[in-house]
Amino acid sequence: MKMRITVLPGDGIGPEVTAEAVRVLQTVAVIQGFRFEFEEHLIGAAAIKTLGSPLPRKTLDACLASNAVLLGAVGSPECDNLPAQQRPEAGLLLLRRALGGYANLRPAISYPTISDCSPLRSDIVKGADILIVRELLGGLYFGEPRGLTDRNAFNTMRYSVEEIERVARVAFEAALKRQQKVTSVDKANVLETSQLWRQTVARVALDYPAVALDHVYVDACAMHLVTNPKRFDVILTENLFGDILSDEAAVITGSLGMLASATVGGEIGLYEPVHGSAPDIAGRGIANPFGAIASAAMMLRHSGQLEQEARDIEQAIQLVLEAGYRTRDIARDESDQLATTTEIGQLVMEAVAEVADLRHAYHAV
Ligand code: NAD
Repeated sequence: MKMRITVLPGDGIGPEVTAEAVRVLQTVAVIQGFRFEFEEHLIGAAAIKTLGSPLPRKTLDACLASNAVLLGAVGSPECDNLPAQQRPEAGLLLLRRALGGYANLRPAISYPTISDCSPLRSDIVKGADILIVRELLGGLYFGEPRGLTDRNAFNTMRYSVEEIERVARVAFEAALKRQQKVTSVDKANVLETSQLWRQTVARVALDYPAVALDHVYVDACAMHLVTNPKRFDVILTENLFGDILSDEAAVITGSLGMLASATVGGEIGLYEPVHGSAPDIAGRGIANPFGAIASAAMMLRHSGQLEQEARDIEQAIQLVLEAGYRTRDIARDESDQLATTTEIGQLVMEAVAEVADLRHAYHAV
């Protein structure tokens, strides 16, 4: 097994958390005898400072020549006053578009050992395990015409059957490997785009008789997410609704640092933790790397078709949490063992080796 992986550490805590994700991937490669080739490139404020562009040509070319891209985060307060097109975040948007991924997958899992880190009651979130599938290249964020004058502004929400079908299939395929349930979220009582969304999703569902489909309005979904998150398995929704709901779903996990994401559907998958560059804690060794490490697991699953190795990493994360190790953002009391970003990386590497050893031993019996 050989994979060429472009690593874009980016800004702030991006380099700290991606370093740990890469170390975990290297551990998997050594254990399994895989060849993962890593090539690091600049993006965001780091790239603006050195090469004058948030997405230098060299970075984009390297991404396009790889099997998968692992990104940290972009953004720096130094760039806050730059025009939108020159800011670090513009580099990320350009990259997402160039890679062509139209489905953004965001798992929101409440690990039992840290369920009390959520601002929601533990009995509400404990056991919640949701996969949000968000359409990423259509809807209001890309619809034309759009415009802004002194006196008014407008955007266009537009969807085609093809755009809806392809992302719906990603959601149904994912549901087949989970609890076989898709909740499609729209605003079909008001929006024509949502009416098309609902009809199209219902038609795609006919190809997946094993999967139960229900439709929920976006406002009701926002309420259910915080009152009864366990009612969901896969949530399928369009770009704007998905942007908002996936951040809301973050509260069930306990910390932004826990959340991973994958953008798939294009030729090259993009994997990144959900959090930003967190300039307030950058360089202090206290960033939570679990989201970045879990993103690396998603990379193995979706770009490497290495389901077992992805699960090994996910199980290793659980083992480290169960052993009581915590970065500061998920620490609660004295029984927790406070660990640095690097220490957590090391612990996950060791746990991955342990999990893989146990698996090999089991198969040898
Ligand atoms: P943020 O996600 O960087 O931070 C929000 C809060 O969560 C901060 O208090 C931070 O310390 C904490 N936090 C985030 N990740 C953490 C981690 N792994 N471990 C521990 N604590 C963590 O969001 P923000 O402060 O709104 O944005 C900072 C910069 O990041 C901005 O420039 C923004 O544009 C950018 N941003 C980038 C991305 C991305 O690259 N995908 C996403 C969101 C924001």
